[in-house]
Amino acid sequence: MSNIYNYTLEMLEEYFIKCNDKKFRATQIFDWLYKKRIKNFDEITNIKKETLDIIKKDFNIDKINIVDIKKGKDVSKYLFKLEDGRFVEAVLMNHDYGNSLCISTQVGCNMGCKFCESGRLKKVRNLETYEMVEQILIVEQFSKKRISHVVLMGIGEPFDNYDNVMNFIRIINENKGLGIGARHITVSTCGLVDKIEKFMKENTQVNLAISLHAPDDEIRNKIMPINKKYKICDIIDIVKKYIEVTNRRVTFEYIMLDNINDSEECAIKLSRLLKGLNAYVNIIPYNETNNIQYKRSKNDKIIKFYDILRKNNINVTIRREFGSLIDAACGQLRSKYEEDDL
Ligand code: SAH
Repeated sequence: MSNIYNYTLEMLEEYFIKCNDKKFRATQIFDWLYKKRIKNFDEITNIKKETLDIIKKDFNIDKINIVDIKKGKDVSKYLFKLEDGRFVEAVLMNHDYGNSLCISTQVGCNMGCKFCESGRLKKVRNLETYEMVEQILIVEQFSKKRISHVVLMGIGEPFDNYDNVMNFIRIINENKGLGIGARHITVSTCGLVDKIEKFMKENTQVNLAISLHAPDDEIRNKIMPINKKYKICDIIDIVKKYIEVTNRRVTFEYIMLDNINDSEECAIKLSRLLKGLNAYVNIIPYNETNNIQYKRSKNDKIIKFYDILRKNNINVTIRREFGSLIDAACGQLRSKYEEDDL
């Protein structure tokens, strides 16, 4: 028995064809799940009982549980308890252009970035597709807001859970599903080059963001262990190819860490590295956490860094700060809970 929210429209169509039923049944089910938002299969009125009985035998519709909501100004954080007792979190941000939800893709993370709270707790498992879909459904239910944008920047490395993440994207992007436009969905990766190549071939309009955080291998090796496997030049090579094939702009995320990667020299190096690429840099003020020694760069240094990039014709923005007061940075709320549990 599998959770129904694991299934893309195509997978459900295949299922119904295999059951000698009509392909159209999948559209009906999607309508009940994603438009009418039923809580159990008995609410379905346009499918005959015998068929419903088979559906009930093959699928469940259980939800993950919400255990805590922390509200701040324009941002709220939702903590979920999964069926196996593990925790993940999602962060809802209210922008003037809509509501954006940052969702988790794994329980913990194996990438081990030194500045990141999620990595400290190590990966326990991948999230199943339904556990990602339900983060959206439940936040919409509790916040009474429609989510217009989804970013895969919560706990986990989405490309380390590639297949489940792609099915999740198909479901939320599907017009008969949640109908969230591909250009309103952003996948963020620490730079798994083989998966970026695979993603490039999917032919979607989904946005790609890469956590670069350093202008050279020496610095990146110190803060992101993944850099031992895929060097910065490997990332740049695949990004060039990605832009050529998809004609889409790529975002580079750059956390500003005090005295680690925030010097003027770093800004000049980064400008050289990205020169001529159809990319833009999103500078992120680091959200400090009690458990990690890194500090946020001073504001004047952040601005200086930004100015140097601009002068060198690099598209750059400084991310508006959202969650620092409610521990909304990656993994922070969850790590408090998990540690209380230990
Ligand atoms: N694993 C993916 C997505 C999850 S992390 C990735 O690496 O991109 C989402 C973003 O938040 C990444 O850019 C990550 O480096 C950044 N991040 C992690 N901890 C942070 C913190 N304390 N403050 C600010 N950004 C943080």
